[in-house]
Amino acid sequence: MDRSPDAGPDRPDLLGLDPDALSAALRAHFESRGQPEYRARQVARWIYEARAESFDDMTDLPAAERGALAEAFELREPRAESVARSADGTAKHLWRLADGELVESVLIPTPRRLTLCLSSQAGCAMGCTFCATGWTGFGRQLGAGEIVAQYRASQRWAEAHGYGRIGNVVYMGMGEPLANRRAVFASLEVLNRGYGLGARRITVSTVGVVPGILELAARPEQFRLALSLHAPLSELRARLIPLERRYPLPELMEALRRFDQAGGKRITFEYTMIAGVNDDPALIDPLAGLAAEVDAFVNLIPFNPIPWQPDWRPSPAKRLEQFRSGLERRGVSAAVREPRGRDIDAACGQLRANALVELDPSRPRARVAGESSD
Ligand code: SF4
Repeated sequence: MDRSPDAGPDRPDLLGLDPDALSAALRAHFESRGQPEYRARQVARWIYEARAESFDDMTDLPAAERGALAEAFELREPRAESVARSADGTAKHLWRLADGELVESVLIPTPRRLTLCLSSQAGCAMGCTFCATGWTGFGRQLGAGEIVAQYRASQRWAEAHGYGRIGNVVYMGMGEPLANRRAVFASLEVLNRGYGLGARRITVSTVGVVPGILELAARPEQFRLALSLHAPLSELRARLIPLERRYPLPELMEALRRFDQAGGKRITFEYTMIAGVNDDPALIDPLAGLAAEVDAFVNLIPFNPIPWQPDWRPSPAKRLEQFRSGLERRGVSAAVREPRGRDIDAACGQLRANALVELDPSRPRARVAGESSD
């Protein structure tokens, strides 16, 4: 029997089933109760279109059928533990899952679209040295339903607070998505085919899990890939991302070439710029070389300080601009991205980190302004 978080101890979480599996489970359920087949479609509409929070919301079903659904299945919604809202509109949720685990998601409004950044794991085992989530260590894998539930709950909150509809989803929150492939790939299907989010509006981020990149490349949908590169040379990269030792740059680039050649798939390089660590202008050339090989767009992001690396500072704006123009001169498209939600401490994982401090006060506490339980 499946013991993933989606299955739960007794009742499957319908939020984590891809549309085909959802339809099959519901058809079998209603058939066993002598109900017409269209009931399955009714429930699917309640889940995908109305984003119903409970079976009781499904008011065009007879009361007895709502009760039977609740006995057979779950809609496992997270509870908002807190939300920190930035002056720039960025809203970071800390969600408490059914077993008490904590994960974060972030809504990022821009004039053109609303983007949701969601988590794929509670904590993370990758231990990247510039990352707050890495510092807190690994909690557990999220189930597909728990990933999708962040989207549903965030959309509900966004509508209630005048943010409108989520147009883009990025798997750039807590965790390494490609280290939780089964649940992440199932959640991609649910978001894409169930909730109608176009594949090109969904970006999966990775620090370089090669088998996961190859799996994503083999999929028919054009989900986007963001590689957390952060350094164009293996030795330097290994100081920032321990996974570099397992999947070194040459192997990683081979996987990216396969992804690029799969057709119509976009790759972005994320490059967090840390003063005196990875912002030497001599790195522009090798960075441009890697990006050109796979036609990647480069996002240059000033480092967001974290308490566990007290000596690290963001590169100055001039250096970011030097990298951007240097890349452009070498034919590589690049942009400087200001981190959003600075005043609520945008470093991914800090809300959870602080919640963990409540349990273990000997951990250093990250400052998070504007916390409330809106
Ligand atoms: S950067 Fe991503 S992969 Fe690395 S520790 Fe942080 S959450 Fe994990």
